[in-house]
Amino acid sequence: MTDSLLFPAKPVVSAPVKGIEERFPVNRIFCVGRNYLAHAAEMGVAVDKTTQEPFYFLKDASALVETGATIAYPAKTANYHYEMEFVVAIGKEGFNVAEADADDLVYGYACGLDMTRRDLQLKARETGRPWDLGKNFEESAVLAPIVRKEEVGVIEDGKIELKVGGEVKQSSTLSLLIWNVREVIAHLSQFYHLQPGDLIYTGTPEGVGPVVAGDVITGSIDKLGDIELTIK
Ligand code: MN
Repeated sequence: MTDSLLFPAKPVVSAPVKGIEERFPVNRIFCVGRNYLAHAAEMGVAVDKTTQEPFYFLKDASALVETGATIAYPAKTANYHYEMEFVVAIGKEGFNVAEADADDLVYGYACGLDMTRRDLQLKARETGRPWDLGKNFEESAVLAPIVRKEEVGVIEDGKIELKVGGEVKQSSTLSLLIWNVREVIAHLSQFYHLQPGDLIYTGTPEGVGPVVAGDVITGSIDKLGDIELTIK
């Protein structure tokens, strides 16, 4: 029996929290697919909430980068896309959580970017393969400081917007989420024991598109401030 490791373990990934010194240790990153009707439509897919359930993919916590970062255009893609997203930070454990109790699990909220190798994602989709190569890769999950729920209250609506080079590309409202935060937590917690440190990227509105080297992406959500990313 020994505690020694063969090589250094990965450092804990953490995110800043607005207004306090302590950082939020990041556990898993869940992402909801197709959670705005207009985005699903632009991806060529119809969503019917009465007959369908939400679906998810995950990103490794090590994919996280903080707002303000400059990142490289990633390998193996010629169609690198931004997706502006409302992110929920989980602060309590929960399994089979009722919608009525779901807000209790929320520690806070943040602006996020689900950066996507769209060509690889679509190829995977067409061939029925997992989306990992298109979604889960280095520097693909961008996050702004988490704003505590105790500071802003429960967020159910608000403008969500993204610009590239100052030009508005995405503009919507959180009230257009097909599955809202309570519904997502209730559903996701049937499949996973949600834990403090989990992040949920709740999906992107319509207007996704490509970026190229040199682009500056800026996004904002009411009450949550801004997010910025530069592609080099
Ligand atoms: Mn997304």
